[in-house]
Amino acid sequence: MAGQQAAAAGAGGPVVCFGECMLELQGRPFGTLQQSFGGDTLNTAVYLARCGAAQGLRVDYATALGDDTLSDGLLQRWQAEGLGTGLVRRLPGRLPGLYLIEVDDQGERRFHYWREQAAARSYFDTADGDTPLERRADALGALYLSGISLAILPPAGRARLAALATRLRARGAPVVFDNNYRPRLWPDAATAQAAFTQFTSLASMALMTLDDEQALWGLPDAQAALQRTLALPCAEVVVKRGAAPTLVRLAGQAPVAVPTVPVPRVVDTTAAGDSFAGAYLAVRLAGGGAEAAAAEGNRLAACVVQHRGALMPRQAMPGADGPPA
Ligand code: ADP
Repeated sequence: MAGQQAAAAGAGGPVVCFGECMLELQGRPFGTLQQSFGGDTLNTAVYLARCGAAQGLRVDYATALGDDTLSDGLLQRWQAEGLGTGLVRRLPGRLPGLYLIEVDDQGERRFHYWREQAAARSYFDTADGDTPLERRADALGALYLSGISLAILPPAGRARLAALATRLRARGAPVVFDNNYRPRLWPDAATAQAAFTQFTSLASMALMTLDDEQALWGLPDAQAALQRTLALPCAEVVVKRGAAPTLVRLAGQAPVAVPTVPVPRVVDTTAAGDSFAGAYLAVRLAGGGAEAAAAEGNRLAACVVQHRGALMPRQAMPGADGPPA
């Protein structure tokens, strides 16, 4: 049965989520805008910290920010969510990326991004081995990154991240890759395909949204995408398919379907996959089975899609245990 083979949890070090978190503006253009923040790997880090708090899991968020007051504000908010921020680089004169969610009279949302110059892209723009992540590589418990983490880095940065992941894998620490394919962040599909191939080979776990895989490889239908995804070299593959059952495939075993939780009304699917990842990893890194982990992922994601925005209120989380001490 799938799910009985527990993941090798890191040897007590923090789980690190690496990527980009941006400033968010939402509302009517030229009118009143609400300012907040968001980003796939940050969302996962927050949900992982919330889900893993009871078992003492430590979660760090690694990225680069500027030395401005908005960057200060982001750091404070991440720390308030219980995230470690000791691996964050502060780059003088730089700024975080920004996106605007334009909401029209019908409630339709349109996204605009200003992220080409974001500090996060320059995380590895320093001498080889000279980032906090690389200096602490041997003390990290696990590494989580996404297709967006790869997309924002220049090729040299991606190579440094791959070397870091390889170092963790060499001593048995989990490396988790979440596909999150966003075509507009890549110069072309071939570059993205090469990077995804590299990281799905390096990773010990791949959390794959089927639609993204189909788009990345230009596959004719979901069945073709499923076949390709289940055949990835990664030992542990999870296939997310919206409301359809989630599939878990461990090395050498047949895939197992884990039903999702019926949702009466989907309000906003933002961070569905990110929250799934947080809940899934909290179970796996504590030594739980993959099927139980997928059930928890499905349970949390079903709650998240019934709330507006990426981060649902902590008090409304399934099995909520209040704010961090
Ligand atoms: P992503 O957010 O990465 O695009 P999906 O849309 O596949 O990925 O959703 C991620 C997870 O969220 C699913 O695996 C499932 O657990 C949950 N989910 C998404 N949509 C629904 C839905 N309509 N009903 C129940 N669960 C859902």
